[in-house]
Amino acid sequence: ALCNPDWVFLSCGSGEVFDDVVAYAVEHGYHGAENLSIIPGEVGASAVQNIGAYGVEAKDIIYKVEAVEIATGRVVVFDNADCEYSYRQSKFKHEWKDKYLVTHVIYRLQKTFRPDLDYGNIRSALEAKHIAEPTAQQLRDVIIEIREAKLPDPKVLGNAGSFFMNPIVEKAKYEELAALYPGMPHYTIDESHEKIPAGWMIDQCGWKGKSLGRAGVHDKQALVLVNRGGATGEEIVKLCETIQEDVKQKFGIEIHPEVNVK
Ligand SMILES: Cc1cc2nc3c(=O)[nH]c(=O)nc-3n(C[C@H](O)[C@H](O)[C@H](O)COP(=O)(O)OP(=O)(O)OC[C@H]3O[C@@H](n4cnc5c(N)ncnc54)[C@H](O)[C@@H]3O)c2cc1C
Repeated sequence: ALCNPDWVFLSCGSGEVFDDVVAYAVEHGYHGAENLSIIPGEVGASAVQNIGAYGVEAKDIIYKVEAVEIATGRVVVFDNADCEYSYRQSKFKHEWKDKYLVTHVIYRLQKTFRPDLDYGNIRSALEAKHIAEPTAQQLRDVIIEIREAKLPDPKVLGNAGSFFMNPIVEKAKYEELAALYPGMPHYTIDESHEKIPAGWMIDQCGWKGKSLGRAGVHDKQALVLVNRGGATGEEIVKLCETIQEDVKQKFGIEIHPEVNVK
């Protein structure tokens, strides 16, 4: 790790387990990754998928990405801006798809702890524990607790985490829906855009806990599709498409998978 008075630069091999990096950072007082605790997968994919949770995305902590150009073996180092990160997107998923192998990700973490608590139920979960100003470890623990209560363990019930991305819609569209569904959850993106949780819409369509063949929708979090045992890829795709149609029908919004469907 390289340091300056404000930041720590942590170079991690792409095959490292991402959560090991988060745990290491928390342990050493390097901040910014706490909200990304226990997202499954490796460091390389964090830079490809721009993984995110609880208001923080990998792009917020990625400084540079080192990769090998597969065709030539040339080593290249991309700046964060080169990767064109946005919600679960990067150039690695589009123009650079199958062109580069990420070898290292250099994360930039803060020495000062400025926790991001205003997303989902982080604050209420902390309040329930009578914690007003959490330490980084307490924040990590609470995130782990919330996630474990909501997300099925892939070793027990096959799943890929959140299956769909939360759609970002024009403010006018949001207002039209909010009039029809007064309790509709939403996150303001900017003056003219709102993000609507896809899981809420799927739930409203009656899918939570339901199945289509051997593929189903998780009973605690409708954003997660699960394999109830022996479901084929085709069954998962069929369920995905049926849900997409239902959401489109009811809300007039297209939802798209977060997972890469080959
Ligand atoms: C229970 C559960 C919860 C989840 N929660 C979240 C969440 O909160 N937020 C979130 O964002 N995601 C979440 N996910 C999704 C998943 O954790 C991420 O997509 C993660 O990045 C996958 O990591 P992986 O190493 O398995 O990548 P893979 O699925 O193996 O790869 C993902 C993509 O990256 C490419 N890739 C991987 N490594 C490299 C490399 N070194 N160089 C070039 N390309 C590469 C692959 O080709 C593929 O296209 C969850 C998944 C599960 C099962």
